[in-house]
Amino acid sequence: MTAFSLPPEEAAPRLSVARRTLARLRTVPGLAERYEGHPDVRTLDGLAALPPLAKDDLNTALAHLEPAAEHTATWLFQSGGSTGAPKLGYAPTGFYMAGVHAHWQPLDRSDVFVNAWGAGRMWGAHFLAAALADLAGCRIIALGSVTAAEYGPWLEFLAARRVTAIGGTPSVLRLWFTHARAAGIRLPDLRKVLWLGEAWQDQLAEDLAVVAPQARRWGMFGSTETWVVATNTPDCPADTFHPLPHQLVHADADGLLDFTTLDPEMLNPVLRYRTGDAGELTGCPCGRRGPAMRVHGRRDSVVQVRGLGLDVDQVIAHAERAPGVARAQLVLTRRGGRVTELDVLLLTAPGAAPDTGRLRRELLAATFTLSTAFQHDPGNVRVRTVSELIGNERTGKTAALVVREET
Ligand SMILES: [Zn+2]
Repeated sequence: MTAFSLPPEEAAPRLSVARRTLARLRTVPGLAERYEGHPDVRTLDGLAALPPLAKDDLNTALAHLEPAAEHTATWLFQSGGSTGAPKLGYAPTGFYMAGVHAHWQPLDRSDVFVNAWGAGRMWGAHFLAAALADLAGCRIIALGSVTAAEYGPWLEFLAARRVTAIGGTPSVLRLWFTHARAAGIRLPDLRKVLWLGEAWQDQLAEDLAVVAPQARRWGMFGSTETWVVATNTPDCPADTFHPLPHQLVHADADGLLDFTTLDPEMLNPVLRYRTGDAGELTGCPCGRRGPAMRVHGRRDSVVQVRGLGLDVDQVIAHAERAPGVARAQLVLTRRGGRVTELDVLLLTAPGAAPDTGRLRRELLAATFTLSTAFQHDPGNVRVRTVSELIGNERTGKTAALVVREET
């Protein structure tokens, strides 16, 4: 198994960027001491010996460094953390997408591209997708996010415009295509679905097969800290991405991925930065040479319920496979630190009425943690349909798990 996405001879000439990042991090109070005794990064082994950075570390560093772009404006975006005050990530205009476009061109001049990533509120994805579309020279429809009542009219408009490409997070794309399928709207010209921000969802492929049978998925992997790290094509599995040469991906012995920028323009000090994603470097069945990155999902999807680990993503995936369920969300209620209740909220496809009783029985039977933790009070595990999931006003995200503290 390979530990790095680049062989030593290709990485070595670019490690000067990592050395510069290390020098910047050594000036940050609160972080400097952890690098004491570590020599400058001359080799990949030397890099792997450095301590990894977590989200909070990067925010500590940015608060001190306050980096500024050399030739353009400096954009501030929301970075990480779904609660509390916004944490920041920085980027120059262009959002490093020229480096992405040099290796990955899902769009071309003939495309009519719908940018369905939400704009505003310091979210980054809409702007990086716009930068990519700009480099492709295609037509752009900057749609952003819409409310539930607006899907129908907008879908009619998009069908009339004969759109060929759309991009968004998979959970938002699911809402688009669930609505289109339920309303009988077809997008026969749609050939490309760009995605970023979450894992691909198989249910999305099922809706696409009906609504836009020609559409194929083109994925980006990244974060507001690292920006786009890797991309894939319809020929790659949905969980496998090819790292860009200016992004060094490292798979740790414990299965966590970390990222080091080799782009001298990068403003965020990304040096062995961990997004929390687990994964490995492996081959890709598409046949492209060089190690590809297979993402196994986030390590932080496991939450403690009465002393047992509950895999939130697994429960969500199970619920979302049920007929008529568009999206699911877990709500844990805690009192005095102890989990008292667990609610599985279901957003249904238009006109659908999922069998909640049956799904509840299935979830209890299939999930050891649920059946064991609630064996004396199974009535505190509930499954119900709702008209809206619980969103985070600040980030615009609808988290898979919401924890409610009761006093
Ligand atoms: Zn591939």
